[in-house]
Amino acid sequence: NAKKNGKNGAVGYRPDMAAAAEAEFGLQRELADALARQDIVVYYQPKFTAASRALSGAEALVRWLHPQQGLIPPDRFIPAAERSGQIEALEIHVLDTVCAQIRRWLDAGFDVPRISVNLSAGRVSDSGLPARVQQCLDSHGVPSRYLMFEITETVAIQGMLQAVDTLKQFARMGVDVALDDFGTGHSSLSYLEKLPIQQLKIDRSFIGALTDGTSQQSAIVRSIVALAHSLDLAVVAEGVETEDQLRYIVELECDEMQGFLFSHAVPADAFADFMRDASRAVAPSGAAPRYG
Ligand code: C2E
Ligand code: MG
Ligand code: MG
Ligand code: MG
Repeated sequence: NAKKNGKNGAVGYRPDMAAAAEAEFGLQRELADALARQDIVVYYQPKFTAASRALSGAEALVRWLHPQQGLIPPDRFIPAAERSGQIEALEIHVLDTVCAQIRRWLDAGFDVPRISVNLSAGRVSDSGLPARVQQCLDSHGVPSRYLMFEITETVAIQGMLQAVDTLKQFARMGVDVALDDFGTGHSSLSYLEKLPIQQLKIDRSFIGALTDGTSQQSAIVRSIVALAHSLDLAVVAEGVETEDQLRYIVELECDEMQGFLFSHAVPADAFADFMRDASRAVAPSGAAPRYG
């Protein structure tokens, strides 16, 4: 009866599965090399206050500068890194890169806003993480107020108790935490009151749906904002792409925003230009002091 299952008789075998396994294995091997060769780099997407469009932070987003394939977006290697266990090395690399970069910016005299780093769910339930983070801050001489993390609702599925413990330690350390991609997970509301967090990021699918001010989508965003504010959480709108969306999120009283309307994630040097512009906006160089 082996014939029925194909040439080699393996039940459930399909050539595409082997190909996929092979591709993933290749990816894992290459990722290890890339980490060693420093081909994994961090870009920064600026965040702004909604009310005044002042620079308020940046999200650190990892990119793989592949020697043959060019720039590989994180969605194409983070899931594989999670499955292979390489996510730990990857996230430590990102954290270390960000802390070293913050230190260089501080040394260059920049007024550095808070930089947020994404954490995968599995890492949040690693009890060694807070000590590791403190060690990274200390070794680069970076005060904790310059760093924050973004986690997703899947933390709750992968170990709620440990996640709460980790987040409490971050709070004691002075490292804020945002709940990312809010609205795309499950049972959002019950997690919200259990997780000690400071920010909520509304997923860009909701922002992208804000095409007119009266739609049901705007009612959803409005109620997320009200809920967040009643829990003392700041609200960040992600994925702002149009002037109309900008108008709506200001009307809906989101606190901060990021999106292609303002900037894509850019290399560190390009982000420094945003910090330079921000300091000029507040105190124009050479401006005469005003008296009376
Ligand atoms: P995320 O944390 O939700 O990051 C926001 C993603 O939305 C980024 O994609 C960003 O480039 C994109 N984005 C920002 N503004 C807009 C916009 O106006 N329109 C659209 N269409 N997209 C926008 P990116 O950089 O490809 O990252 C994708 C995901 O990969 C991130 O989603 C995050 O979950 C994950 N990721 C990125 N860096 C890291 C990392 O260092 N560690 C971990 N664990 N995950 C990471
Ligand atoms: Mg994020
Ligand atoms: Mg997000
Ligand atoms: Mg997202």
